[in-house]
Amino acid sequence: MKDLKEYINKAGLEGWALPHFNFSNAETLRAIIEAAYDLKSPILVATSEGERKFIGPRQAVALVQAFRDEYGIPIFLNADHTKSWEKTKEAVDLGYDAVLIDASHLNFKENIELTKKVVEYAKKKNQAIIVEGELGLLRGESKIQEYVEVKEEDLTRPEQAEEFVQKTKVDLLAPSVGNVHGVVTKSQQHVRPDLIEKIKNAIGDVGIVLHGASGVLLEEIAEAIEKGVSVIHINTEIRIAFTEGLRKALAEDSKEVVPYKYLGKAKEMTKKAVLEKIKSFGSAGKI
Ligand SMILES: [Zn+2]
Repeated sequence: MKDLKEYINKAGLEGWALPHFNFSNAETLRAIIEAAYDLKSPILVATSEGERKFIGPRQAVALVQAFRDEYGIPIFLNADHTKSWEKTKEAVDLGYDAVLIDASHLNFKENIELTKKVVEYAKKKNQAIIVEGELGLLRGESKIQEYVEVKEEDLTRPEQAEEFVQKTKVDLLAPSVGNVHGVVTKSQQHVRPDLIEKIKNAIGDVGIVLHGASGVLLEEIAEAIEKGVSVIHINTEIRIAFTEGLRKALAEDSKEVVPYKYLGKAKEMTKKAVLEKIKSFGSAGKI
């Protein structure tokens, strides 16, 4: 089976993107993996620091391994938005396949220093591990919001991106290209294909990760892939699907107390949302 790096390269060469979905419970994880299995898509699943704290990082690794053994498809586990050295080291040590060291809250120089330290440690521990760095300011949270304004100074500058990847040796870069975390209801967020293209030209083989793709129009996603995005993060849209499924099941039968029955509806709606995303990223049949 190919490793994650090979899938990222393959996606870049063939013009599709690896889907990346977050989870904090076993039902969401099962929904994501069943969808990937049905469509024969390689898949990235992830836990942010908060999600990891809820499910347990060791438990996340073990669960993903169990699914890999059972389904036999390429499933990779990412430690999404990990802000400290300690938490990143913990994820690497526990066997995560990829880590995002998000030091974008630090200044440029400090971001480079911490990211570089993570790359050096992670690669020594696990040669196949993928390390992602983040540069620029990504606003918003993975929930429903009215407005999230992207300011010009938040955006990633291509010349800084070039210096950042050269000095840190990251495999993936999460830039700020007009994207925001979460779904916005009172405006439409727009990603900037021109900026993605400039960053891609500046960073060469390093893959671009599009964060906060929930609520981004499908034609903009397609253009982002064409300009150089090779991994796409979706969290809020499947959180919404799960929660709506759960609310619906509980409303339909308020006396139901069997978790696998009402959670079954939540899982079913999550899977439906994941299937649609995988199809739109072009990764179906790419195992
Ligand atoms: Zn993100």
